[in-house]
Amino acid sequence: MSAAEELKVIAAEVSACQKCKLHTGRKKAVPGEGPADAQIMFIGEGPGFHEDQQGRPFVGAAGKFLEELLESIGLTRAQVFITNVVKCRPPGNRDPEPDELEACADYLDRQIKAINPKVIVTLGRYSMYRFFPNAKISAIHGQARQVEGRLVVAMFHPAAALHQPSLKQSVTDDFKKLPEIIAAAEKAPAPAPEAPESKQLSLF
Ligand code: URA
Ligand code: SF4
Repeated sequence: MSAAEELKVIAAEVSACQKCKLHTGRKKAVPGEGPADAQIMFIGEGPGFHEDQQGRPFVGAAGKFLEELLESIGLTRAQVFITNVVKCRPPGNRDPEPDELEACADYLDRQIKAINPKVIVTLGRYSMYRFFPNAKISAIHGQARQVEGRLVVAMFHPAAALHQPSLKQSVTDDFKKLPEIIAAAEKAPAPAPEAPESKQLSLF
């Protein structure tokens, strides 16, 4: 199956999914969108009101800010893949709960595997925890780190940044580092399909 076909299969499964309690309150599930061969993937927290209405990620105020940030580094949203750690809206935009994150994780894992992006940007704490379970976002934001053979950069969530000028400046500054990080990732070898450990062993 091609990556595009796999993404369609995942989206269809998400739209019908009842694996956690968030399915009961949704209008539309939000699988995510973007090209199957995107070099860069943005992972937010979960759909908000407008996303739930439309079935598309980051279409409200946070999405407008994300589009401005992308534009500031010469990218459009059509060039990147955008999704969330939970695909259905938590009631009242509350934080996703552990059982919901766990139930939904497999969809995100399969999306990452299908797209195989060079760079992943996490937006907010919950998507950061997927890669850096014990990290503090205030300590690691804006830094590119190797995870599973690709670069992952944690950033503050654009919705939080909209309400806090210091976070807004931080996200804006972190975005400015992305072109360099993407260029570095493009020079690096493609993410290893096998576990990184096996690659290291072969050096001996
Ligand atoms: N906030 C998110 O984390 N995700 C969206 O899709 C929209 C707002
Ligand atoms: Fe399924 Fe994820 Fe929606 Fe829960 S949030 S119902 S696991 S798609």
